[in-house]
Amino acid sequence: MAIDRIDVHDLLGQPGTWRRHDVLGTIEGLATELVTVPDDVPLGGSMLLESVIEGILVSGSIAGRWTLRCARCLTEWVEPFSVEVQEIFTTEEHAMTDPDDALDQDVYVLVEDEIDLDQMIRDTVGVEMPFAPLCRPDCLGLCEICGGNRNLGECPGHDTIDPRFAALADLLPDLPESND
Ligand SMILES: [Zn+2]
Ligand SMILES: [Zn+2]
Repeated sequence: MAIDRIDVHDLLGQPGTWRRHDVLGTIEGLATELVTVPDDVPLGGSMLLESVIEGILVSGSIAGRWTLRCARCLTEWVEPFSVEVQEIFTTEEHAMTDPDDALDQDVYVLVEDEIDLDQMIRDTVGVEMPFAPLCRPDCLGLCEICGGNRNLGECPGHDTIDPRFAALADLLPDLPESND
């Protein structure tokens, strides 16, 4: 269920007026390599909608759950998140008459007096996604030799001898015990 658009025609042109609006819904395809907001897990929050000269100021917090994958050991886990949002949705008229706004990629524009929060939530949550999540600060990661998860003791440990010399070492006779 996508997040509903919010009709704000009652607030437009009435600077100083405001109301609250609760949003709840899913965002599709919001993911990086290691962080995913599942398509079927809704996120939402309570938004304050304030009428300003340029349009509508939207502020509040968006909460949901995301799935993180450890950058070292690739273990997945689910964690709640909450991000603060504060953005102005400008009227189409304002966006067209203000050349600075027209050039600004971060400006959100009202379409038919409606706020569509989808892109704003994507942008805001996307920025907050951890770049390299760790399952724990001292995660030992995966063994480069056997691929075992070293946190779980899956790696038996290996001789530090370079594998290229291992075969050679086998051919050498054991060193004689020192005899006093
Ligand atoms: Zn880990
Ligand atoms: Zn290993």
